[in-house]
Amino acid sequence: MTRRRRIYEGKAKVLFEGPEPGTLVQYFKDDATAFNNQKKGVITGKGVLNNRISEYLMSRLSEIGVPTHFMRRLNMREQLVREVEIIPIEVVVRNVAAGSLSRRFGIPEGTPLPRSIIEYYYKSDELNDPMVSEEHITAFGWAAPQDLDDMVALSLRVNDYLSGLFLGIGLKLVDFKLEFGRLWENEEMRIVLADEISPDNCRLWDVKTNEKLDKDRFRQDLGRVEEAYQEVARRLGILPEGGPSDVKGPKTIQ
Ligand code: UDP
Repeated sequence: MTRRRRIYEGKAKVLFEGPEPGTLVQYFKDDATAFNNQKKGVITGKGVLNNRISEYLMSRLSEIGVPTHFMRRLNMREQLVREVEIIPIEVVVRNVAAGSLSRRFGIPEGTPLPRSIIEYYYKSDELNDPMVSEEHITAFGWAAPQDLDDMVALSLRVNDYLSGLFLGIGLKLVDFKLEFGRLWENEEMRIVLADEISPDNCRLWDVKTNEKLDKDRFRQDLGRVEEAYQEVARRLGILPEGGPSDVKGPKTIQ
């Protein structure tokens, strides 16, 4: 018996109707998928950790003026978010070559990029999320030129802020994926950050050892997947050791 209406079920999250109009409850699952659903698995505790990690990062971003859909965490696996109209584009920001960029251009993983690179992918499981250009996005009406300008400006701010935040805890932000939505307030529309920010959609490497502390451990069968997500939360100072009241701030690494 479910109390709430299920609005949407994705690979890693479920969206339920929220308590007030214009809100949704975002439930974080332990399910993990990779390679467009060809690889499936469970990362025990991932949902709990991603809920906390995303809460933490979205809250910090909100404090520096980045608008987000996040309202508040409700419990271990759920957060309350504003209902937005999701723009069907994944914005990937890259600082260091890895993953599909390394494969596509034959650039060894770990090569620093001369400047941050932004890429767009059209969200479509049937089409395997094809890479698209600004021309495709505006011509096919997925986002207006002004929406796209806002998405790029916000993505670069997120990159600058999170690169510094992670560096402070000994992690290199190699690349990450963001999603945006349209938030309607009266007759006004704003582009806001949506979805989640977690080791599911960021590549995070230890600064000293280059050890991968993200979903690549699952994609590439590197083992110690749960431990990697825990380590990110621990370094952010949000892994409760003696219960929820035992949350400390980030531990800065020299
Ligand atoms: N990413 C994501 N969802 C996707 C595709 C990519 O969250 O559907 C993230 C991924 O975790 C990485 C970044 O976007 O941090 C760049 O991924 P890439 O294009 O290298 O794809 P992959 O190597 O995962 O195929």
